[in-house]
Amino acid sequence: MRLARPAIGSLPLVALSAAYLVFVTNGTFWRKGLLYFADHPLHLAALGLGLFLILFSALAAVSVRYLVKPVVIAFVLVSAVASYYVDSYGILIDRTMIANVAQTTGAEAGHLVTAGFLTHLALFGLLPAALVMLVRVRHRPFWRKVRWNVAAIVPSLGVALAITLAFYPSYASTFRMHRDLMASLNPLAPVVALVKYGQHWDGERTYVVAPLGTDAVAGPRLAAARKPVVTVLVVGETARAQNFSLNGYDRDTNPELAARGVVSFTDVSSCGTSTAVSVPCMFSNLTRAGHSDEKARSVENVLDVLGHGGIDVRWIDNDTGAYHVADRVPYTFLPGGGDPRFCEGGECHDEILTDRLEAELKTITKDTVIVLHQLGSHGPTYYLRYPAGFERFAPACRTAEFADCKREEIINAYDNTILYTDHVLAQTIDRLKARTDFDTAMLYVSDHGESLGENGIYLHAMPYVFAPTTQTRVPMIAWFSDGFAGDMGVDTACLAGRRDAPLSHDNLFHTLIGLQDLRTKVYDAGLDAFAPCRAAPTPAQVSELAGAGR
Ligand SMILES: [Zn+2]
Repeated sequence: MRLARPAIGSLPLVALSAAYLVFVTNGTFWRKGLLYFADHPLHLAALGLGLFLILFSALAAVSVRYLVKPVVIAFVLVSAVASYYVDSYGILIDRTMIANVAQTTGAEAGHLVTAGFLTHLALFGLLPAALVMLVRVRHRPFWRKVRWNVAAIVPSLGVALAITLAFYPSYASTFRMHRDLMASLNPLAPVVALVKYGQHWDGERTYVVAPLGTDAVAGPRLAAARKPVVTVLVVGETARAQNFSLNGYDRDTNPELAARGVVSFTDVSSCGTSTAVSVPCMFSNLTRAGHSDEKARSVENVLDVLGHGGIDVRWIDNDTGAYHVADRVPYTFLPGGGDPRFCEGGECHDEILTDRLEAELKTITKDTVIVLHQLGSHGPTYYLRYPAGFERFAPACRTAEFADCKREEIINAYDNTILYTDHVLAQTIDRLKARTDFDTAMLYVSDHGESLGENGIYLHAMPYVFAPTTQTRVPMIAWFSDGFAGDMGVDTACLAGRRDAPLSHDNLFHTLIGLQDLRTKVYDAGLDAFAPCRAAPTPAQVSELAGAGR
């Protein structure tokens, strides 16, 4: 015996689906709406009706056999996935977020697929999708359907237009003031993000990379240095400046660095709010204003310039990759090796970097820049970023499900990651300091910050224009051996006096070139963060350069 499948007309199906999407899968949108329209609830009610009518019209336009069900099901599934992350983490889903998800490693993506997510997906995505699959949709003969659909769409859009005109000043100002409102609307925001990501997708595209700084040569100080000049650049992950005690945080998160005479710069802003934006941007000579992924991929970066100047460059990665920055330099991906001393489940604690640094230093014979790319404070699984001994701030949240933790527990876990980074950086310094046969320096800068529940927002990757400073203010810490400071003319007391000067990722390109004392047309001393504190080369150094022709 076969059970009769329930039947529904195509327009009623479309109306029900639109109502479900607008009113059920948009918890964050409505919460924000109630807040932003608190004094004008009628405006919000009209907005809801308008959005329903527009979505109804869009679905009615495709309500033909073989098309309407797949479209409705796709919208329901996209909304279910997006609403989970938007509602539980306060994140907004845009093109950058899709790019981050597409480019992260499997292990990291696995942390985002929690039991809470699967339950939410089943209830709000799979169940309604199954209902849509199950029902039999009654379609009218084609031309009659066209007339009916037009008769439904035209008045719907008319009312939506009337609402827009009636409340335009209210909507225009609120949308502008609170860009996050429409950016959290399902399924609009994730669908737009997917389309934009598709347009920018470059997995198949081959870039012709224009050379940059091929004129780079050693300046007088580098040429005169008696020992190999070795700089370690540590690229941090998700570390925010506010939680470093070196910058005034009231918890002691930097006990080890504080004992090592470092200079911590307090006012450094990031290029982006995500790894995928910040990492390519910070190595390129494009400033934040001029940066785009396409432009950065089409021209060499500072690592290439260092190479042109005769400096060995190596990239050691414990994060999710180098985002094409290290395409032309020797590259090592440590999580791939799965060293059991540091790694579990495809991820490794950052001490794997200092362990590897020790080995790299043994192979160095000439001027070298080593980039160490940290996993740092990557969330939401902060508790996996540090060994048990670093759980000094307790109790720490020990799940990726923020809803299951108090905010203080989430902050505790995050602060433990900063404490561990403090240890990793101190170890880096100690290993460099031990090599008195080199002139050594370390520069650390994070890629972007993190939200820890301020205004209900967590994680990062907010669109830059309205990202809070917790996502854009990054730590930057410098250390120089006495040999390096002497030979390369760095006045560390002067740098300490300038530690509050406003800086950004825009400065990194020129600061690295200046630090290594390379001469090239692409160098701009005005953007070199250390230039004001560098002494002019001595006459002996200049004459040595002229004589040696190095
Ligand atoms: Zn990052």
